[in-house]
Amino acid sequence: MNNIPDNPFDDDKLREECGVFGIFDITSSKSDAAANVALGLHALQHRGQEAGGIVSFDGSQFYVHRALGLISDNFSSEAIMSKLKGNVAIGHTRYSTTGETLLRNVQPLFGEFSFGGFAVAHNGNLTNAMLLRRQLIQRGSLFQATSDTEVIIHLMALSSAKTIEERLIDALRQVQGAYSLVCLSDSAIIGVRDPLGVRPLVLGKKDNSYILASETCALDIIGADLIRDIEPGEIIFITREGLRSIKPFDHKKERFCIFEYVYFARPDSTINAKNVYGVRKHIGMELAKEAPVEADVVVAVPDSGVPASMGYSLASGLPFELGIIRNHYVGRTFIEPSDHVRHLGVKLKHNANSSVLKGKRVILVDDSIVRGTTSRKIVTMVREAGATEVHMRIASPPTTNSCYYGVDTPERSQLMAAQHSVKEMANLIGVDSLAFISIDGLYRALGEARRNDEMPQYCDACFTNDYPIELTDYKQESSMGSKENFGKLAEV
Ligand code: SF4
Repeated sequence: MNNIPDNPFDDDKLREECGVFGIFDITSSKSDAAANVALGLHALQHRGQEAGGIVSFDGSQFYVHRALGLISDNFSSEAIMSKLKGNVAIGHTRYSTTGETLLRNVQPLFGEFSFGGFAVAHNGNLTNAMLLRRQLIQRGSLFQATSDTEVIIHLMALSSAKTIEERLIDALRQVQGAYSLVCLSDSAIIGVRDPLGVRPLVLGKKDNSYILASETCALDIIGADLIRDIEPGEIIFITREGLRSIKPFDHKKERFCIFEYVYFARPDSTINAKNVYGVRKHIGMELAKEAPVEADVVVAVPDSGVPASMGYSLASGLPFELGIIRNHYVGRTFIEPSDHVRHLGVKLKHNANSSVLKGKRVILVDDSIVRGTTSRKIVTMVREAGATEVHMRIASPPTTNSCYYGVDTPERSQLMAAQHSVKEMANLIGVDSLAFISIDGLYRALGEARRNDEMPQYCDACFTNDYPIELTDYKQESSMGSKENFGKLAEV
């Protein structure tokens, strides 16, 4: 498949690792679970575009299809979907942060145990996976994939516990990191959130089917109702008998990823009873209060900067205009890495609307600055369209640290805010002024008075360097001065 990102603007964005979805029709044995999973994954495609997979179960047999590429390309044909039989199925859409883009890394991963088949779909990242993997290999485990998720399967296989439930708990007690899991056995789908609840997972219902999904937008697409968010540290079992929930881990204070609200989640999703679009608008309003500037017009960097721009416009009283227009119809094949197309850069997908920019002092709102390369190109484009001043306002604090909890982040050395002051960044990007929302402003937009520095309400490590989960592998790699390479087999 083509690994060039679909959107040249998104080259310079943090990327979510994965989306997960599962459905169990508890009254039927015939229903079309896999088709609903494909729809759910399609709604979660923003969380990962590299690959996807579905595993279904019809009461006697598991069926699996995994493929590199988009869900709509791989799970729309009758030939494939008719083979994914059963009233229960789980699926996964992936953007890799650990493990290369190999078919054998595409999830759900599946293991044959003495107790039967077991499939796992994982959103997040285990921070001690390398250490556990090394120990497991020494004990004789043979790994098929290079992703961190396979560690869970092997820990379950080696557990001396009797039931699947006990083996899963046993395995999860040994892992560190962020994980929202959707698993499938021959009698249940199982949803799990890590004890801090870093990544999202919701429970929904439609008729006689229960659903687990990364975001509520995936419930909407199949017409399901949201029941509630799965709680941090909760394991929920969905069987023919209905729902059962346990909390086997020590209670910890929730530290949900604050960046889900800023950028990753879809604006039409609701997380912890907060609509993402509404939060983003409030971030823009806080930003306008914290960093006002005399200007004529507020313009969003589409699409992710739009809600915050609207909020900024509301609070400042300045008009919101579509000063940058996005072309939604640029296909992947168009973005082959030819020199000519590379040269077009951001213009491939976005164009400055000079009719609203010419002669204007522009406030340009974006959600974040990662490397800063794209911001510079956009600012140039806006100036070339006739803007007399460009003031950039960013709907998150400076991204100064990498994420180790399931988001693909460049190394610190590549993060513009880790290497430069705000003033230097403004010069490099070529704006008249640059301002980021403060960390307390971001918390205010989420309805908090401020960040509680003793017991922070969210994970915000990429802004604060305050990592709530031990970074075991990273520390070990840093002390060794190199990264361990487990991927000895190249797929050709
Ligand atoms: S480090 Fe940043 S992106 Fe990663 S989980 Fe924490 S808030 Fe989210």
